[in-house]
Amino acid sequence: MPQMSSVPIAWRLQQPRYRLIGTICTKCNTSYFPPRSLCQTCRDKGKIEKHKFPGTGKILTYTVIRIAPEGFAEFAPYAIAIIELEPGVTVAGQVVGDPEQVKTGRKVKTTFRRMYTDGKDGLLQYGMKWELLDQ
Ligand SMILES: [Zn+2]
Repeated sequence: MPQMSSVPIAWRLQQPRYRLIGTICTKCNTSYFPPRSLCQTCRDKGKIEKHKFPGTGKILTYTVIRIAPEGFAEFAPYAIAIIELEPGVTVAGQVVGDPEQVKTGRKVKTTFRRMYTDGKDGLLQYGMKWELLDQ
């Protein structure tokens, strides 16, 4: 077996997260995120296709981070939420803005923001976060 670089794997894993692309079984209409190549319900009788989730969701639960790990200190305090994209499909992410406004059941949408500053060189990393929608 040839040695595989981990870089393309990391890239493959990250890209669907940023773009919210999962899969859907067109036989039973079950959607998956992260994407799966096999439907849990239909097994080999299912038909799996790419599925783009809408960039909105609902907060199921959350926690407020007050003491942030290295690289995230500038954002503290901030809320990390479990967001339901579609029934049964969840993703974890940071909710931007005042963490006191974050509540279970509130609607959120994706926003492309600075994630963290990487090391002494100050390399900026961007990615998907969530922002509260008006109620
Ligand atoms: Zn299925």
